[in-house]
Amino acid sequence: HAEPGQPDAVSMFRATVARDPGGDAIRYFGRHLTFAELNELSDAFAAGLAADGFRPGDRVALYVQNIPQFVIAQLGTWKAGGIAVSVNPMYKRRELAGLLRDSGATVLVCLESLYRDVAAAVLPGTDVRRVLTTSELELRVRDEPRVFAGVERVACQGTTDLLRFLARHRGQAAPSVTPRPDDVALLTYTSGTTGPPKGAMTTHRNVVFNATTYRDWAGLGPDDVVLGVAPLFHITGLVACIAVTLLTGAPLVLMYRLDPDLTLETVEAEGATFTVGSVTVFIALTTAAAAGPGKLASLTKIFSGGAPIPPGTVQRFESVFGHYIHNIYGLTETTSPSHAVPLGTRAPVDPVSGALSVGVPVPGTSVRIVGEDGRDLPVGELGEIVTAGPQVSPGYWNKPDETARALRDGALRTGDVGHMDAEGWFYVVDRMKDQINAGGYKVWPREVEDVLYEHPAVREAAVVGVPDEYRGETVKAVVSLRPGAGVTPDELTEFTRERLAAYKYPRAVEIVDELPKTASGKILRRQLRPPASPM
Ligand code: ATP
Repeated sequence: HAEPGQPDAVSMFRATVARDPGGDAIRYFGRHLTFAELNELSDAFAAGLAADGFRPGDRVALYVQNIPQFVIAQLGTWKAGGIAVSVNPMYKRRELAGLLRDSGATVLVCLESLYRDVAAAVLPGTDVRRVLTTSELELRVRDEPRVFAGVERVACQGTTDLLRFLARHRGQAAPSVTPRPDDVALLTYTSGTTGPPKGAMTTHRNVVFNATTYRDWAGLGPDDVVLGVAPLFHITGLVACIAVTLLTGAPLVLMYRLDPDLTLETVEAEGATFTVGSVTVFIALTTAAAAGPGKLASLTKIFSGGAPIPPGTVQRFESVFGHYIHNIYGLTETTSPSHAVPLGTRAPVDPVSGALSVGVPVPGTSVRIVGEDGRDLPVGELGEIVTAGPQVSPGYWNKPDETARALRDGALRTGDVGHMDAEGWFYVVDRMKDQINAGGYKVWPREVEDVLYEHPAVREAAVVGVPDEYRGETVKAVVSLRPGAGVTPDELTEFTRERLAAYKYPRAVEIVDELPKTASGKILRRQLRPPASPM
């Protein structure tokens, strides 16, 4: 494995520009932006920031979807020595205001529609001085009426058009800032599946290290094509899409949103070879392709991370597309992967919990399994996963207490429970906080969910603990069904009862149209639990 060759993400990008200025950096609905163009546009962005009095360490919030402007603004921010703060475009006023206040961003890059509907109302209470608006319709040439139906452009008062801002500053020298490896490059707010969002700081070293990890793990080079279906505001998108492209020179094909049919068409049209997505993406693609197989031929380097993937989902995907999905594991705080299944290898399934292995630690990473007393546990025993390595974040923005709780001597307490087998494969059994205590019996929701996923009618499943007079807590499942499938809650209870110990199977099953999810596609178990009753 090669050591990261560059100290920071800007130098990493410049090396690629020098190698292949005319190569495609981004493809978006028929539009091709070359590395030289991306370099010029991000220089213009940095020059514009500098002209506004922006200083190294200042923050730029990015509140847009997967569009080329995201990449331009993020690179431009780095070139000005700044920190990019990615904001989930699904956030509403209260959530956006919280992030802007917490990060102290002075510049906001925002979709016009989001400016009108959300941002305009919350800006007065923040430090934002410059709002750059843009639209998903710009920087594309091919008409996609299906995707853009209902999207209209309306100029926003009091804001600056991002593309005009870039045009005005194009050709001006970018500030001559070269970030240091330990400078913060990104603030990524964890999506809050377990609590209020915290801004994980990601340094340039973190970014370069894990871009290099992906490159070496998947054998990526300029002939690869990256399918950018993971949300760019999430750490997976930031690293597996943007940073991988900046490092390797492989073009990034941006998907504006998860549209399974369009994704299948795009992979074919662009010859995409590599993607990292969440389990939701792979379920959606499998469901969409059920009518017509034989797609995704070029897409051989496939990784799933950010949430557990049931073994059955991997099998179903493989039976439809002929490709194996490699599990990867990591947190926002580990800049995406700390563990991965080696390309071309099949991960074992844990005989006890039924979890698919998340792989082995990536090079340079050391992982321990520790007990409640903080001591290392022997092989096979369940404990907390503690990860150390050059991809581990230095902490949370302005949160010294939370940082001290999560990090000790650079090692991150992940809050995940897992174990390692005798061959060194790791298994993530569940999140510590999600454990259900049914009358003293501990139930990991994951295990029950995996069984539900084995039922042919089940599309998605989430299992939570609900209060129960007799047991304290009891197991409840909430599921959505495959199109056209029919099954009753009783039949699902029976299905799990036959396959699980008596204290584990769900006493209640609820069937819903859709499960609540974060924008990155993770099921929000928290929203399925009844609100805690006041004491
Ligand atoms: P929060 O930290 O606020 O709960 P979040 O879920 O969005 O929010 P992320 O950093 O995006 O935080 O997700 C990391 C978590 O996702 C891990 O701690 C782990 O529980 C889960 N996870 C990630 N990859 C896998 C995987 N391959 N298998 C099982 N779980 C995974």
